[in-house]
Amino acid sequence: MTSGFDFHYDDFTEAHYRSVLKTALDRYRFLPFEEFNQTGQICLWRHDVDYSLQRAKRIASIEMDMGVSATYFLNIHSEFYSALGELSSEIVREIIGMGHRIGLHFDAGFYAYKTWSSEEHRTILLREKEVLEGMFGVQIGCYSIHNPTAVTDWNSDETVVCDMVNVYCREIRTQFRYVSDSNGIWSKGRLADVLEQRPPKIHVLTHAEWWTPEALSPRERISRCIDGRARFLHRSYDQFLLDFMRPNVGQ
Ligand SMILES: [Zn+2]
Repeated sequence: MTSGFDFHYDDFTEAHYRSVLKTALDRYRFLPFEEFNQTGQICLWRHDVDYSLQRAKRIASIEMDMGVSATYFLNIHSEFYSALGELSSEIVREIIGMGHRIGLHFDAGFYAYKTWSSEEHRTILLREKEVLEGMFGVQIGCYSIHNPTAVTDWNSDETVVCDMVNVYCREIRTQFRYVSDSNGIWSKGRLADVLEQRPPKIHVLTHAEWWTPEALSPRERISRCIDGRARFLHRSYDQFLLDFMRPNVGQ
């Protein structure tokens, strides 16, 4: 039998997010992945956007208020959001406008229907990098693999691939203490505890969708994203008909 206590539901609130971010800021220099080789107390602070751009925008705005610049990794194959959609891409531009960077969150599962050569791997990675660069007019200098333990043949120890820093490269894996909130629970230790231990270099992965105003179970946090997006799409549909004076039959 498990409970919210076992999985630290209370950790995953916006208030706690501010608290751990403040602690990290007091102790570390926040750097882009492209500069991970610098010396000193260094923090790589990253978000993989798996489920919700709206949540990403909220966390991005908390970070902006606290003077933090983070990297948001976008998955162009997500079933939960469309980074390239007309309205959603506006959110991406807002996040960039807040001073954050964009990385490629590469969904190897999308390509799992066949085996690809290493040359094809590079062509595909480069194409996805160029899609994001072309759409948002920014340099994509790093990438993270989505679910790297599920589809493993895209994993690499190489530091730089297609002019992008591979966040799971051997150098970063061996030099940095890694903390992640994957699946809405802590893996590799609670972030607050790890910050207390003050490792010299730290790589923090959080997903914005796991951090909500109130404490919820991971399943409830995902439902919140799905239901919120459904409401957003209903509003968009109604507004479109209103804007163009079309009948909204059945409303
Ligand atoms: Zn992911």
